[in-house]
This record gives sequence, C-alpha cells and structure tokens, in this order.
Amino acid sequence: MKQYTDQLLRNYTHIPYQIWNEHLRQIKKWGIQTHTMFEWLTYITEELGSLAKAISGYEYRNGEKQRVIDEAYQVATLAIKIAEMYITQDGVNLKGD
Ligand SMILES: [Mg+2]
Repeated sequence: MKQYTDQLLRNYTHIPYQIWNEHLRQIKKWGIQTHTMFEWLTYITEELGSLAKAISGYEYRNGEKQRVIDEAYQVATLAIKIAEMYITQDGVNLKGD
C-alpha cells in the first residue's frame, strides 16, 4: 500500500485560507454554535469518521482525492475552533450575549 511522508507544512501559507473558507462554510450552514465541549468532540469525531471514509474510498475504491482533502480541512477547522474556545473564553459565545 502507498506510503505518505510528512510534507513539513511547506504549503502552510495556503492552509489558513482553506481553513477560513471552511469556517465560513460552516457558519453559513450552521450559524454560530454554542455547545458543551463533549458535543463539539462528537462533531469533530463525526468529521474524523468522514475523513476515514474518504481515505478508505480513495485508497480502496477509486474515490476522489479532493474528498479526502476537504474532509481533512473540516476536521482541522473544528480542531482549531476547539483550541480557540479554550484560548479565548471558556466556551462563552462570541456574540457577547
Ligand atoms: Mg465532513
């Protein structure tokens, strides 16, 4: 089976743009969300499952590479949001209400 080597974030300058676009897509779809951290953990776990499915599809069933990339960005975006919630304000929503 094909091996993949860490690319050392050499394309890092382009990643924040992809994360920002995914963030905007999520906000448009779901609005600004407030949940317990265990609910957030459930959502990122669901996305991780989707990433696993996309990887399996690509590696075993001629699935699309772009699907893997998109799902990875969805996981990454939620992970960054979780980090930000702990960094900023213990999960209080950003609207200030
Ligand atoms: Mg997904």
